[in-house]
Amino acid sequence: MRILLQFPQGLKSKALEEAAKFEKEGHEVFLSATPCWGACDLALDEAKKLKADTLVHYGHAQFGDKKVKSGRVEIEYRLYPITVDLAALGSALPLLKPYKKLGLVTTVSHLHQLEDMKKILREGDSGHPHEVLTTRGALAILEGQVLGCDSSAADKLSSQVDALVYFGGGEFHPLGIKAGKPVFAVNPYARSAMQINDLLVRKRKKEQGMLIAALDAKSIGILVSTKSGQFNIRAAENAKKRLLALGVPRVSILVTSEVDFSSLQDFNSFDAYLTTACPRLVDDAERAGKPMVNLAQLPKMLQMLKELKGAK
Ligand code: SF4
Repeated sequence: MRILLQFPQGLKSKALEEAAKFEKEGHEVFLSATPCWGACDLALDEAKKLKADTLVHYGHAQFGDKKVKSGRVEIEYRLYPITVDLAALGSALPLLKPYKKLGLVTTVSHLHQLEDMKKILREGDSGHPHEVLTTRGALAILEGQVLGCDSSAADKLSSQVDALVYFGGGEFHPLGIKAGKPVFAVNPYARSAMQINDLLVRKRKKEQGMLIAALDAKSIGILVSTKSGQFNIRAAENAKKRLLALGVPRVSILVTSEVDFSSLQDFNSFDAYLTTACPRLVDDAERAGKPMVNLAQLPKMLQMLKELKGAK
């Protein structure tokens, strides 16, 4: 069989090792060298051009519950579990003492340790056990899983729990959480645990600030990514129509596989961007040098534009 292997950036160093396993079985193996940041990004075009029978996508689970259509190419997801020391969760217990019911989420890399995490939280700290709840998200479909663009496994639990606990590396995933409850991030790599509600509020304020700045834009670029899980041309065309109808003088749709901020700066013609691609692009909007608004904020933006138009 002809097999294309695709690894996210953090796992590309494992590529040769994995390729050798398939080659030993007599398969013809190709490695995708294009950057890959998420489960939204299947190397389907490469697989089709290579006439591959199978695309093996490592390190991510299926994105959403609908299988991506891929012609004759079979898609296989291979998780790459990373076992970490759960001691940081134990150290977080004193912080969590005031909260009886906890919602727990983690990334796909640590999901195999979810039951062990629950056990630590359930036992709690010196006579303060917790009830622990998990659920499934919309795009992150495994129990307890969150993605940068889908925190619904945490958000859905908000009304049922006293606090939410994210376990995993970095700030990217927990800063996607929208729930209005105390949120704690426990990081096994930094061996740290902290409440992050201040950071969440700062992020929301930044997004609100960019939305307000975008209302003055005379020209708006709507970003569309061709990545398998991000492509949303219908939403972009609809947004264009509605923004023009509300008096924004110039609106153009910008199509790209990967949103590259320096390439956007070269356009030098847009006062603001609306992204229909990865919603976490707005975290780095400074790099585009212009305010950036997520598609999810479009209804609010249109409402504000309408009110401004009415006031003139
Ligand atoms: S859309 Fe963005 S946050 Fe979601 S999986 Fe893709 S890269 Fe990650």
